[in-house]
Amino acid sequence: MNKLVLATGHAAPAQGLLAAVPAGHLIAEPWNYSIIEWIDHNASVLIVGTGLTMVDTVISLAKLQHRGPIVALSRRGLAPQSHHSLKSDDPAEWQVNRLRLRRRKFCTTGRSRAESGGDWREVVNALRGKTQELWRSLNHREQNAFLQHLAPYWESHRHRIAPEVAGQIQAMIQTGQLRIMAGKIIDIAPNAQPANPVNIVIRPRGSNDHTLTIRVDVVVNCTGPETNIARNQDPLIQSMLRQGLIRPNAHRLGLDVADDGGLINATGNVSDTLCTIGPTTRGRWYEIVAVPDIRRQSHALAQRLLSSIARESRLVAVA
Ligand SMILES: Cc1cc2nc3c(=O)[nH]c(=O)nc-3n(C[C@H](O)[C@H](O)[C@H](O)COP(=O)(O)OP(=O)(O)OC[C@H]3O[C@@H](n4cnc5c(N)ncnc54)[C@H](O)[C@@H]3O)c2cc1C
Repeated sequence: MNKLVLATGHAAPAQGLLAAVPAGHLIAEPWNYSIIEWIDHNASVLIVGTGLTMVDTVISLAKLQHRGPIVALSRRGLAPQSHHSLKSDDPAEWQVNRLRLRRRKFCTTGRSRAESGGDWREVVNALRGKTQELWRSLNHREQNAFLQHLAPYWESHRHRIAPEVAGQIQAMIQTGQLRIMAGKIIDIAPNAQPANPVNIVIRPRGSNDHTLTIRVDVVVNCTGPETNIARNQDPLIQSMLRQGLIRPNAHRLGLDVADDGGLINATGNVSDTLCTIGPTTRGRWYEIVAVPDIRRQSHALAQRLLSSIARESRLVAVA
């Protein structure tokens, strides 16, 4: 075999503290929606994570006529925004060279759009085709700052939901069935009471010493795919890591990879045999999860591999 492409996609979500949820009360991978059908209609549910998977889970529960209370929790409690306008234009020149200035420009452009009767979504839409370029123009420290402080806000404005879905979520919040909370789980303990058997201790965002405990029947892990390959459970990834054939990206966003998809090994050399595409390359491109982006990446990689195989065959023929 001449070349090997790792196209292993997303890893399962990390369980972290949720591993302490008693068996039978945790849905560790919500992407298999048929599991949601097993949740009792009256069960109280905690969804950890407030992104698109949370929205899918809530909507699936609503379709199943779920009656019990649902709490959705994440550090900042930011849920996806709604689509409104699909109009896209290029509102500004984004080539300012510091993250702080770009953030300010982004906020003022979005705000002035809204104030002049426009829509901040146009600003986000206009940036969609530029995110890889913008990510790559940041240095390591700025990328880190973006991930720590801005990424949750970007994600909730970038990955939006249909207005009808947003309306359904809003209606569930208004009736009190759904509550979206900002906070951090600090402890999980089984509850002696058979009703609501799991105690979840939460520190609400912004409070240092105050905690609250909620009692739930079911916990659904909607924290998203694990991007730290050191915690990836796939035996293939673990074996390649042990052999030093691959190493984690510096931000722990997938694998360390060269621009052309070549995998970088433990000593920093780019392989000409092993390469990767898709979500494993997130650290290099940041937004490489949507199918159209991966399609473009696959096309470029296929062309590179074909020409490199042709070059190697010519060398063998000459020899
Ligand atoms: C719930 C959900 C909804 C989404 N909705 C959208 C959407 O609406 N639009 C959009 O553009 N994107 C969406 N995405 C993102 C998109 O689906 C993924 O980013 C994309 O499928 C990744 O493509 P991939 O080929 O890299 O990996 P995948 O499609 O995940 O395929 C990876 C394949 O590799 C196999 N594999 C992994 N490890 C091994 C191994 N060790 N040995 C053998 N086989 C292995 C897996 O079984 C799988 O078949 C969604 C993702 C999720 C989870």
